[in-house]
Amino acid sequence: MAKVLNWQLGREMNYPYEQAMPERQFAFVFNINRCIGCQTCTMACKSTWTFSKGQEYMWWNNVESKPYGGYPQGWDVKTLNLLDKSNPDGNTWGGKPDDTPNSTAPYGRYDGKTVFEAAEKGSEPGRVLGYLPSDDEWRHPNLYEDTPPGERGEPFKWDSQGVKLPEHKAWFFYLARICNHCSYPACLAACPRKAIYKRPEDGIVLIDQQECRGYRKCVEACPYKKSMYRPTTRVSEKCIACFPRVEGNDPEFKGVPLETRCMSACIGQIRLQTLVKMSADGTWAEDRYNPLYYMVKVAKVALPLYPQFGTEPNGYYIPPRWAPRGYLRQMFGPGVDTAIERYMHPDRELLAVLQLFRRSNRIIFRYEWKPGEKVYEREYGGKKFEMFNDEVIAYGKDDREIFRTRVEEPVIVRDEKHANSI
Ligand code: SF4
Ligand code: SF4
Ligand code: SF4
Repeated sequence: MAKVLNWQLGREMNYPYEQAMPERQFAFVFNINRCIGCQTCTMACKSTWTFSKGQEYMWWNNVESKPYGGYPQGWDVKTLNLLDKSNPDGNTWGGKPDDTPNSTAPYGRYDGKTVFEAAEKGSEPGRVLGYLPSDDEWRHPNLYEDTPPGERGEPFKWDSQGVKLPEHKAWFFYLARICNHCSYPACLAACPRKAIYKRPEDGIVLIDQQECRGYRKCVEACPYKKSMYRPTTRVSEKCIACFPRVEGNDPEFKGVPLETRCMSACIGQIRLQTLVKMSADGTWAEDRYNPLYYMVKVAKVALPLYPQFGTEPNGYYIPPRWAPRGYLRQMFGPGVDTAIERYMHPDRELLAVLQLFRRSNRIIFRYEWKPGEKVYEREYGGKKFEMFNDEVIAYGKDDREIFRTRVEEPVIVRDEKHANSI
């Protein structure tokens, strides 16, 4: 095992291969607070990539209702249980979170075991800790839709107090998921054929369909269960990050890098995807005005999903502000309280950056923030809140402007003669 830096864990960890960082890394932020569970993203992916024979149960993008839903059923609880069994009571966080921008321990230090470390002393050393879901578990991607836990966590026994912040008593939220194109992919680590590779130019993780022999080691190893087996071809498949779009090879937009199909289709405007600059030492290179760099490394409002698994996932989430904090800390790590506080009381720059979501399908590489006039002030959650009509400008790969927008949504009054027309 090699030693690699996992900054999400605030320490080095063991991984079967030497550290090899891509030049840029495919990464995205999903704002859970805005997801309406419409599944448009799910269908955008399905209708583009997985509509053929043998792919009927394959949803590279899925949206599940937490806490009960999951695709495959119980994927996260099962992996957490396996980790706990391998290291009873030891999978805890310690150390002190370092709040400086681009720190290598933003959430403190994970003192527990990752899926790689937990497998080291097992009966098959070198294996990644995981399990193979049964066929049944893949069959119902949206089971428990909109089902909140009731009183004492029992379904269908609702609390009479209803919903009140900071934590609703009856709650659920939608968790949209795709492959995280991890920095230390468990699927890649587990493949005996070396059929899985991470592209040096954008960090996208792909399965070579010629090399794969369908052993399903990747399906077993991926803690997010985002590698899937196709019985008709007898090989595994997974989200390909819509790489022709990210490369700028979509025939409609010659040379312009586009966000993926699932990102572009998002009705709730919860998604923003870009390519972040990487350093050879495993950290992100400083890129202060890249929107992902800002949200993850500076504002720290977006957090990795189950960082304790150890794969350094490149999907980040703004946690839902109404869900119990203990549940969220297990899911997103110790950064949850800070992230929710910053989202609920955003400063001017964060409010401006949040306007970048889904204004364009082109990938934003840089933004510029220009202060505007004050619009109003009020007290919110016991704190003074001032809103300014700041402007934010998005730039593409070639540093050409893609669009500009403002914090305050413009009011457009329709001409009377068009009042009843579409
Ligand atoms: S999410 Fe799973 S399938 Fe995707 S790169 Fe990470 S380990 Fe591999
Ligand atoms: S990035 Fe592309 S391939 Fe991956 S889930 Fe989204 S639409 Fe599907
Ligand atoms: S399209 Fe957007 S809002 Fe709708 S389910 Fe998907 S992530 Fe959520």
